[in-house]
Amino acid sequence: MVTEIVISSPYIDGRGEFFCRGCLGKNLFSALDLGKLPIANELLLSSEGEIEKFPLHLRICTDCGLGQVADVVTPERIFRDYRYLSSLSTTFLKHASDFVREQMDRNTFLPHDWVLEIASNDGYLLKNFIPYGIRVVGVEPAENVAATSRSLGIETISEFFSSQLARELLARYGYPKMIIANNVMAHVPDLVDFIRGLQTLCGPATQISIENPSLSNILVGMQFDTIYHEHYSYLSATTVSELSKRNGLQLFRVEELKIHGGSNRYWLRALSENSPVDSSVDSLILDEKSKGLFELTNWVSYSLKVSNVLKELKVWLNNEAMKGNRIYGYGAAAKASTLLNSINVQADFIVAIADASQEKQNRFMPPNGIRIISPKQLFEQKPTDVLIFPWNIKSEIAVYLKQNLGPEIRFWCAIPEMHQVEI
Ligand SMILES: [Zn+2]
Repeated sequence: MVTEIVISSPYIDGRGEFFCRGCLGKNLFSALDLGKLPIANELLLSSEGEIEKFPLHLRICTDCGLGQVADVVTPERIFRDYRYLSSLSTTFLKHASDFVREQMDRNTFLPHDWVLEIASNDGYLLKNFIPYGIRVVGVEPAENVAATSRSLGIETISEFFSSQLARELLARYGYPKMIIANNVMAHVPDLVDFIRGLQTLCGPATQISIENPSLSNILVGMQFDTIYHEHYSYLSATTVSELSKRNGLQLFRVEELKIHGGSNRYWLRALSENSPVDSSVDSLILDEKSKGLFELTNWVSYSLKVSNVLKELKVWLNNEAMKGNRIYGYGAAAKASTLLNSINVQADFIVAIADASQEKQNRFMPPNGIRIISPKQLFEQKPTDVLIFPWNIKSEIAVYLKQNLGPEIRFWCAIPEMHQVEI
């Protein structure tokens, strides 16, 4: 694993001023400072282990609206040994197969047409095109995840997507019919180069589908636990429209989705003066403006609300521990890391965190080494309360756990504020 830390980021100049990674402007304001936190997917190998921490500070550009954190850690360190597998969630699997079915109904694919997915993970989405006989190519830099995708018969290139790779793909395969980039634009340090790569591969008939959680949800839905070092950028319709225009593309339709607690699906094509743009684009841009998404004063009061949510969680953990309840966590994902590290949670408040991923089991959640166990161990250890971290699939998790833990078990979630999860 590469452990180099970028000291002179392309987005921080010699005087420590920040450039916007979207428009390269210098008009950024501080939206939320979470202090120094570990990289969200890095876990401890022992309960006594130490972990490196890096500043995590959300800033917003007033010129293009892009939310962003400084790239203090290289993508190689974050993504080469990525432990997130899309196929572990039935919600995501259904979302992917529904998307493919919808595209097959909506479009006509010719025999030479091909589909590219950037950050194709373990093939969770592209595999749905295979029964239709459509050629698919995945780009997935995490070697361990790409190997799973290849085992499903999906041609997978183990590299980071870039304008250079886009030129190579174009020379090898021609323009794709469709480019899918779900939950990846947020992970790209050089956003301009990524968008230029999309533009390179965008032929006259190419449609680009980009899904990403919206910056609106962080503000309105209190989803500050989706801020982590691997999410360099926080998008909105305003930003995607602006950055597309600057790079020869056009945002022509937006769909608002429920997945991940509120995502947008942005549809892009080659910039064209004469093609009509769907009304969904202007209407969402107006909505973002009316929510004050790019106004400093809103973010000042937001920071205070975040402090209160964190305080509530600490008080709740303390009270439950005093009552002698056995609190477990579920889902040792990045959200859990941001939340628990933000309150510097002590290991004796949460007995253990269960996670279905074998890669995480027997490791320890920083900062103070909470053990990660399997769901089976959770069922054997008889918790009284389970704090669910992936709030975006909390019902799915609660239903599954209740079947195994019995009717007395209580489920909780700390976002948007501390509440009991009823199923
Ligand atoms: Zn900008």
